[in-house]
Amino acid sequence: MTGDEVTANLMGKHVVITGGGSGVGAALARSFAARDARLTLLGRRLAPLEEIAAETGATALACDVTDADAVQAALEQARAQKGSVAVAIANAGAAPSKPFSRMDLSDFESALSVNLSGVFNLWQASLPDMKTLGWGRMIAIASTAGLKGYPYVAGYCAAKHGVIGLTRALAQELGRSGITVNALCPGFIDTPLLERSIKTIVSSTGMSEEDAANSLLAGNPQGRLIQPEEVAEAALYLAGPAAVSINGSALPITGGEI
Ligand code: NAP
Repeated sequence: MTGDEVTANLMGKHVVITGGGSGVGAALARSFAARDARLTLLGRRLAPLEEIAAETGATALACDVTDADAVQAALEQARAQKGSVAVAIANAGAAPSKPFSRMDLSDFESALSVNLSGVFNLWQASLPDMKTLGWGRMIAIASTAGLKGYPYVAGYCAAKHGVIGLTRALAQELGRSGITVNALCPGFIDTPLLERSIKTIVSSTGMSEEDAANSLLAGNPQGRLIQPEEVAEAALYLAGPAAVSINGSALPITGGEI
């Protein structure tokens, strides 16, 4: 597959990215914009979305992915501006940590809401467009936390495992529709989310920032943080013509952690 063929495939396609204002979402926006896709970015805070939108020509819409009606309304607006949604990348997520013994149900439900229901909301709102097009790519930025457990993030792990279940179920259900459904499962990525996780470890254990970062890297045989651009490249592959038979997969991007 040449770069030109990937470009031709994505050129003009409407790609919606949740959490598009920072970290992996911003890298996704830059990578898809470089392939001449038409972009819509969703997130709760408009300012960071607008910054990436100015760079990429995206439409920025403030939207909380946990609110199904708000996602439907945002997609209606996006569709009116950029046409049917062809690629829906559910990237928005959050990983607050707490020991299980100190979590209450609202902590658990809040982790499920953004990390799992947020994926459901985006994909369900995008499905009619993809059915009309007879082609579509649903991509979730899941995590290694969807494939194995980590301490102090029970809700996050439960949600990310759920995303992989949702991905596998939809891949079966939509198999003959021209739509593929896949999840990417990165290990620790160099983003603001990870910076917040490191700060939490520092404040709860008294470790130095360096030791906290090293403790997260201990499980990665390559001993390095994954860069957001690596995740974006994998999403480009899933959206491109070479990945037509990749459906229902949960692809680890982990340096060998999994
Ligand atoms: P990030 O920079 O904190 O990005 C998360 C994005 O999600 C933010 O732009 C945030 O924007 C948005 N978001 C959060 N809650 C939202 C909500 N309710 N509605 C709409 N948008 C919301 O972190 P990141 O690392 O790039 O995370 C991207 C994805 O990668 C997440 O799904 C995360 O679980 C996954 N991941 C991260 C790592 C890692 O080590 N960093 C590892 C594996 C997987 P607003 O706050 O403005 O809404």
